[in-house]
Formats: sequence, C-alpha cells, structure tokens
Amino acid sequence: MVGVSVLGISGSVGSSTVKVLRQFPDHFSLRSFSVHSNWDVAKSLVEEFSPELICITDPKLVGQFGDSFGSTKIVYGDENLTELVKLPTVSVVVTAVVGARGVLPTIAAIEAGKKIAIANKETLVTFGPLINRLVAKHNTLMVPVDSEHNALYQLIEREKRSNIRAITLTASGGSFRNLPIEELEHVSVKQALNHPTWSMGPKITVDSAGLINKGLEVIEAHYLFGFSYDEIEVVIHPQSLTHGIIETLDGACLQYTSHPDMVYPIAHSLFYPSPTPHMLIERKPSTWKTLEFFPPDTKRYPGLDLAYQAGRAGGVAPCIFNAANEEAVALFLEEKISFTSIPRLIESALNQITNVYPETLQGYLEKDKETRIYIQNEFKKGGVTT
Ligand code: NDP
Ligand code: MG
Repeated sequence: MVGVSVLGISGSVGSSTVKVLRQFPDHFSLRSFSVHSNWDVAKSLVEEFSPELICITDPKLVGQFGDSFGSTKIVYGDENLTELVKLPTVSVVVTAVVGARGVLPTIAAIEAGKKIAIANKETLVTFGPLINRLVAKHNTLMVPVDSEHNALYQLIEREKRSNIRAITLTASGGSFRNLPIEELEHVSVKQALNHPTWSMGPKITVDSAGLINKGLEVIEAHYLFGFSYDEIEVVIHPQSLTHGIIETLDGACLQYTSHPDMVYPIAHSLFYPSPTPHMLIERKPSTWKTLEFFPPDTKRYPGLDLAYQAGRAGGVAPCIFNAANEEAVALFLEEKISFTSIPRLIESALNQITNVYPETLQGYLEKDKETRIYIQNEFKKGGVTT
C-alpha cells in the first residue's frame, strides 16, 4: 500500500486524483489531504477514506469543524500543510493547490524524503532554482502531473538525452483561439472560463485563454528538464490529444498522445516507476480523427513572449511573471480589470521591478510580495488596466 497525501483535494486535479485512488484501492491509501474552504468535499472524503489528518487552510474557518472527525485529526491554516506531507505513512505527495503558496509544503515533502507528484506549477516557476537544488540534495523523485510535462517526462525517459534536439509543448489555444483579436479587450469572465477541451480550475482556465499557462509551462519545462529556452517550443493543437513532442537529432518527432483527461498523468505519477495498470479508458487511435498543429499567434497571445523573456532573464524574473499574473488573474476573476490588462500588468511588473538572483527562499518570497504590492498599486492607479 502506498500512502498518499493530496494538497488541494477539492480542486480539479484533486478530484481527478481521487478518481485514480478509487480505481486502485489495493494500491493506494489516502492518508492526508487539504481543502481551502470546501468542507462538504472534505467531510465526504473523510467518511470514504478515513485519513489520519486533514487541513483546512482558509483562515476564516480556523477551529470551525473542531479538531477531529471520527478517527481523523483536523488542523487549520496554510502553515499546517507541512504536517500533512510529513506523516510517516505518506510516501507520495500530490501538490494540487493553486498558486505559489504551494512552496512550503513542497519543500517540506522534499526534505522528508517523499516522492512528489507535482501539479502546482507556480511553485516550480517561482522558486525553480531553489527547488532544483533541494531535489538534487535530497535525491527526490519528482514526477510532473501537468499533462504536457508528464508526456515529455515519459518521452525523454525513452530517448537518449543527447539525441534530443528540442521539446514541444502543445496548447489548446484556450477559450478565445477563434475570437477576433480586437474583441479580446471586452471578453467576460464567463467567456474566459469556457475552455474548449479541458475542465480545470478557474485560475488555470484564464491562464490558458491567454496562453500564459503555456508561458508558465515553458518555464516549468526549463526547470524540470534542463532544456534552454531556445530548445522549448509551443504549438497550438486544438484537439488536446497530443500533449508533448520531442524532436530527435535526425529531425524525427516522437509524440505522446492520450485523451485529454488528467487521470492519465496523475495515475502515471502515482504509480511511477511502476507502469500504470490498464485503466479502462478508451484509448483507440481510430477515435482521434484529426490532429492539427499551428504556430501560436504572438499578437493574440502576448503573455507567451513575456514568459520567454522572463525565463531567459532568469533570477527572480519568472517569480515576478508568476506573481504579477496571479494578482492580475484574481483581479480579472473579480471583474475589476479587462482580460487584456493581464499581460499589460505582467509586462509592466517585469519592466519596473529589479531582477535579482537570490540564494535563499526569503529572497524569492520578498520579490513575490513586492510584485503583488506593485500590481495592486498599478490597479489602484488605473494606468494599464483601462
Ligand atoms: P482548482 O482551483 O480547481 O483547485 C485548487 C485547490 O486548491 C482546491 O482544493 C482549493 O480548495 C485549494 N485552494 C484554493 N485557494 C487556496 C489557498 N488560498 N490556500 C490553500 N489552498 C487553496 O485548481 P486546479 O486543480 O485546476 O489546479 C491546481 C494546480 O494544478 C494549479 O497549480 C494548476 O496550474 C495545476 N494544474 C492543473 C491542471 C488541471 O487540469 N486543472 C492541469 C495541470 C496543472 P477549495 O476547493 O476548498 O477552495
Ligand atoms: Mg498543462
């Protein structure tokens, strides 16, 4: 039995993880999990799985549900996420909270010697060099859950690294891939949340609509696999069937294709290094019909270029990119700024905030905070958000 901890179990990745756990009750045992505020989901999962410990992170709910439910202990607050991952019975941690706040429990899991199934891309984007140093120091097995990176992880493992010329991440193109560019300024939150192929949480769905999710993923791929930014490419692939492509030195391309369902990468990351058993999901190529690939339009998706720019600059530039985006997306979801203000705010933050190359977590956290304050001030001034 493999003991599992899921940070953010009530979200989209969290729910898909639960599906996998239900499908393989003889392999996995859910030992701990967190929700932010979704007590209904927490309660029913406690009844179903009887974990040892759960954490409710919303500060408004501290103490609200007592300190236990049946045999399950309840703790509260972000700071207690680390307790979930440190349990001796936990051997794999699925990081499925949204945003850079995932960093402290991720570090705790690395230091406690756990395998990490990493979905929380903002942590890697923001703290990449630091996380990589810790992963190397503790010899951590970190398997990406993000579908493109999981696909690439599996492809890279099967090919000699020296024989790979470039890697390609596919992008669906998001909710607005066919909308006339001049209409982007006026799109609503509801339109942005209507993703054509994937069902995901609100923040990543907005990220996808502007290809900023792909920008985050380019940086994530750089830190996970060590390819330079010139060796990481992006293509629009509306069917979301092919997730990752590697190009070998002879110019051939190997691609990983599966139905757009997060249970594939989640199951792979949970079972790895063992192979995933048959999952009873339709995989037949004859059902795919069409696979199309187009280069991304940089006018439609200015955020993608900004991500490359931040990635190439290194230091805390990816951290600034991510924090500015998190704040801007939250403002958009609250209907306070327009969709096109998101990349404008990111660009402004990248231009105005000084890049540094910190050695410590504190150095990154300070820049993350400085960027969030900067975006809130820019929003109050109203300049770039009109
Ligand atoms: P969701 O918004 O669906 O879920 C987020 C989870 O985090 C929920 O459990 C939520 O709890 C919890 N949460 C929300 N706010 C906080 C907070 N302030 N502190 C702690 N926990 C919080 O997100 P997704 O599942 O879509 O995405 C999770 C991560 O996985 C993101 O980093 C995303 O980029 C990445 N990812 C997602 C994919 C997908 O298919 N969805 C694919 C690849 C990567 P509650 O429900 O109680 O609010
Ligand atoms: Mg992805």
